[in-house]
Amino acid sequence: MADCLFCAIVAGDIPATKVYEDEHVVAFNDLNPQAPTHVLVVPREHFVDLADLGRDPAAAGGFVAGIRGFAAQAGLTDFRTVFNTGAGVGQSVFHVHAHVLAGRSFDWPPG
Ligand code: AMP
Ligand code: ZN
Repeated sequence: MADCLFCAIVAGDIPATKVYEDEHVVAFNDLNPQAPTHVLVVPREHFVDLADLGRDPAAAGGFVAGIRGFAAQAGLTDFRTVFNTGAGVGQSVFHVHAHVLAGRSFDWPPG
């Protein structure tokens, strides 16, 4: 999609430190990491947010498989996965992405 930062990263038009790729997803380090591991997993196809992705169960399944693929490659057994859906809860890039965080302790409930 034109003017989408994460579509541009998927296409290789904007640089990012990619750590995992498969047929469904691209994963890259967050520019402003909040944990020793802070990776963004994005579907190759553009969806605005998790609710939008949920309209396409096949794409949603591929996306979840991609998160699993990244975690397995990274050797992560314990990780927190965050989706911000909507500007009201902090979504700032409107191409759905999973924040995959690991390597420190995490509070519950989340802040
Ligand atoms: P959210 O606020 O949930 O939409 O998350 C967007 C995330 O994208 C933030 O954690 C940012 O630090 C991250 N981010 C923004 N621009 C880039 C970029 N060019 N490369 C990597 N991460 C980015
Ligand atoms: Zn996009």
